[in-house]
Amino acid sequence: MVSSEGKIADIVNNYSKMSFNFGPTLLSWMEKYSPDTLKGIQEADKLSQERFSGHGSAMAQVYNHIIMPLASDLDKETQIKWGIKDFQKRFNRDPEGMWLAETAVDTDTLEILAENNIKFTVLAPRQAKEIKEIEDDEWLEVNEGNLDTKVAYLCELPSGRTINLFFYDGSISQSIAFGGLLESGQKLAENLVDAFDDNQDSQLVHIATDGESYGHHHHNGDMAMAYCMDYIEKNDLAKITNYGEFLEKNPPNFQAKINENSSWSCSHGVERWRNDCGCNAGRAGWNQEWRKPLREALDFLRDSSLEIFEKNGSKYLKDPREARNAYIEIILD
Ligand SMILES: [Zn+2]
Repeated sequence: MVSSEGKIADIVNNYSKMSFNFGPTLLSWMEKYSPDTLKGIQEADKLSQERFSGHGSAMAQVYNHIIMPLASDLDKETQIKWGIKDFQKRFNRDPEGMWLAETAVDTDTLEILAENNIKFTVLAPRQAKEIKEIEDDEWLEVNEGNLDTKVAYLCELPSGRTINLFFYDGSISQSIAFGGLLESGQKLAENLVDAFDDNQDSQLVHIATDGESYGHHHHNGDMAMAYCMDYIEKNDLAKITNYGEFLEKNPPNFQAKINENSSWSCSHGVERWRNDCGCNAGRAGWNQEWRKPLREALDFLRDSSLEIFEKNGSKYLKDPREARNAYIEIILD
């Protein structure tokens, strides 16, 4: 953090104050090429446990940044199990939350998360379909414009299991990623604080953005974030928390249903990763005609190699699927 005279005012670990996730593959790269950064991240999780009633801020992530609704059930399971194992190794505890790549979600994915004791995930507001008070019977259709993003939602799954969902504030997240809000830490803090509702008791104003917003896209965006959190704390504008702590202190009063096969980055659902859906990375003339044949080729490769693996694997392994899920132990060894 830099003072108004341009001098170092404080050195802070942003991650110790906010929920965050890193891809396991990035962390394994970091272990080799930037071990001090990895140490800082692990330290952040410890600090956050002290700060937030024992709830660490690190969230797990599906192992390979795979678009879960387009993955086979078997791959979904492996992605989640590997993500959890990797997390346990890095942070010496079980994860409470898991980030889904591109927040891409369907009910099967939520089922496997819940089956593996994941308590919550974070979604974009447009991924909520219907909500109701837990006590009520009547479902209300919602959209990005009228969804209350300041509470946690319980999602009941067909198996009878449940998972908690947080839908982030879409417009502030958008302003951070694309609207230049990171130009001023104070402006960012004011925008966040303004989002609170005076008539609501316990509420959480929260955003979700790519890490690349805080440096790659906005030079020194990490410093703006540090200033923002310091400004909020020093002026006692709100209490900073993380998802795990908020959930423990404010269990959901509402239930939500999701829009199946939806994501935060493709307004056509998850078509961006299998079709020429209309997404063009903002460049006129670009198209994604190549996506369909590429996806079909990779799916074909997946299905045919699975057949070979299961047929030949069963000669040497008690349970090839079990062995596949456990193989992460060898990668981590
Ligand atoms: Zn799209």
